[in-house]
Amino acid sequence: MIYPIVKFGDPVLEKPAETITSFDDELKKLVEDMFQSMYAAKGVGLAAPQIGISKRIAVVDITFKEEPDAKLVLVNPEIIRKEGRQRGTEGCLSLPEFREEVTRAQRVTVRAQDANGNFFEHTGEDLLARAFLHETDHLNGKLYISHISALKRDLIKRKIRKLAKAGEW
Ligand SMILES: [Zn+2]
Repeated sequence: MIYPIVKFGDPVLEKPAETITSFDDELKKLVEDMFQSMYAAKGVGLAAPQIGISKRIAVVDITFKEEPDAKLVLVNPEIIRKEGRQRGTEGCLSLPEFREEVTRAQRVTVRAQDANGNFFEHTGEDLLARAFLHETDHLNGKLYISHISALKRDLIKRKIRKLAKAGEW
């Protein structure tokens, strides 16, 4: 099932999501639906709050279907190591059309559970490191625009208010 993507302004995006405790068929279905929804929206990462579900789960595929091994399910993820710095453009499916330069760590290790509840660690660099940080932020109710200047953030919010008024958001 493909879920519509929740856009900025919906409170679900700005509250911490709930820890997942049962690794049942329902969770596996949610994982499948999240991959489908992410691909349908042409994204390389998606967190459950972005489909209106306040649970600590995210899916990532920075190759966008190119490599099956690149499909990652992060349940209850935590960033346990960050090294270096990278600067690059970042966007978010919940803030369509906007992109901003965001400084992030260059190499990041995430500790998470898979859909069966097994713990694992995964280290990613560059885009994958950025995806780990971006998606984990989502689960903490944080959007990438919290990492840009207040001036730029206010400009984006003002544009969104305008779009919302015109019924285009
Ligand atoms: Zn996002």
